[in-house]
Amino acid sequence: MKIAILSQQQSLYSTRRLLEAGEERGHEIHVINYLRCYMNITAHKPKVLYQGDSLEGYDAIIPRIGASKTFYGTAVVRQFEVMGVFSANESQAISRSRDKLRCLQILSQKGIGLPVTGFANSSKDIDGLIESVGGAPLVIKLLEGTQGIGVVLTETHQAAKSVIEAFRGLDANILVQEFIKEAGGMDIRCFVVGDRIIAAMKRQGAPGEFRSNIHRGGSATQIKLTPEERSTAIRASKAMGLRVAGVDLLRSNHGPVIMEVNSSPGLEGIETATEIDVAGKVIEFLEKNAGPGKTRDRIKY
Ligand code: ADP
Repeated sequence: MKIAILSQQQSLYSTRRLLEAGEERGHEIHVINYLRCYMNITAHKPKVLYQGDSLEGYDAIIPRIGASKTFYGTAVVRQFEVMGVFSANESQAISRSRDKLRCLQILSQKGIGLPVTGFANSSKDIDGLIESVGGAPLVIKLLEGTQGIGVVLTETHQAAKSVIEAFRGLDANILVQEFIKEAGGMDIRCFVVGDRIIAAMKRQGAPGEFRSNIHRGGSATQIKLTPEERSTAIRASKAMGLRVAGVDLLRSNHGPVIMEVNSSPGLEGIETATEIDVAGKVIEFLEKNAGPGKTRDRIKY
């Protein structure tokens, strides 16, 4: 197969591993910086151009779109879709998963376990917002945050109120969420490919830290999932319309609850923690599923 990895840099661990895994399996793999692609949008022969050449004859693409480049990155993915090329994740599904609030709304519509979450634009009724999610302790999150930055635990009603007021004063969009204390600073990353979980790891926050992010000093190890966790992660990935997803969940007293569904999950942490050839499994999935006309997103939202 001829496969393009859409990535800003070949030296990134995930990109390099996908390239290696594809070549090992006998495919022709090109790493293409999607920010340098330009498009020719015509009714007869839509094209993606790169360094003066028209990109043609690809059987599949693997988008690795950076969070801050979603708009242009998904436009390039969409252009490949218009040309009939199979994508490991479709443009619509990537856009959808990049919006935390939209994600939670879709998951709730499917009845998938979530922490009780509130969202408000106006700071008029902060007491009401806090009460609507069950009162303190609460986790307050910046909608645009990543790597645990902008995720704050407030132990009391007064602290929650002050933090909400501060964020609102900065005109930031926030989520207010029930604190899942029993998770004990641990979350679980499930790597979903198609309708299977191919690897899972737990991340444990540093002592005294409720956030499990590796960037915040957490550590990762392999974990065996319960059947309920497996089915929750697979349902979450499907609900978002993703084929390759990193689903993060917490173990709560009322079963697994989803934190986030990631459309460009990193490979380094999970391959290191589990010693599973995750890149190889992604390529294998493309071998089985890529084909002309297979690109179709059926999700309504
Ligand atoms: P980011 O996308 O920035 O990583 P998350 O929403 O995933 O932000 O939060 C970071 C970490 O904080 C999570 O992995 C989890 O360990 C912890 N956390 C987030 N929300 C909650 C919550 N409601 N209850 C308990 N822990 C939480």
